[in-house]
Amino acid sequence: MANIRSHGMKPERAVRSMAHRLGYRFRLHRRDLPGTPDLVFPRHRAVVFVNGCFWHWHPDPTCPIAGLPKSNLEYWKPKLARTRSRDKENLAKLTCLGWRVLTIWECELRDPETALVRLDEFLSTSDSRTPATPRDRPTRAVRSTEREGALSTE
Ligand SMILES: [Zn+2]
Repeated sequence: MANIRSHGMKPERAVRSMAHRLGYRFRLHRRDLPGTPDLVFPRHRAVVFVNGCFWHWHPDPTCPIAGLPKSNLEYWKPKLARTRSRDKENLAKLTCLGWRVLTIWECELRDPETALVRLDEFLSTSDSRTPATPRDRPTRAVRSTEREGALSTE
């Protein structure tokens, strides 16, 4: 288990601060959504998962972190495979529900600038094009860092 980092800099925290820096409003860990996405951007109808490369078995062959441990393979392989297929299912469910999904992998955060750009591109593509549905609108006024749908016809 020596290779498994469960402590240290939390990737999720890094992504949160990126989203803050970019000025997006988000909620955390919405349990009513499949897979409890780490960050939820209701106005953009978008969610972000921040995945640890080991635990979510990052499929990228160039990933420096992911990989099966050498010992206890009969334990780890099915365990990680289950996580991976559950992730896939959740992604499909979210897509069905009309959410756009971005997965940011732990290893991508080693290059924070690129990850920041990726996050910004992902969120800005949905910017004014897919306005939030009424039930996603916050009931109380949100300090608006982004402007959309200021005019209501109702
Ligand atoms: Zn990775």
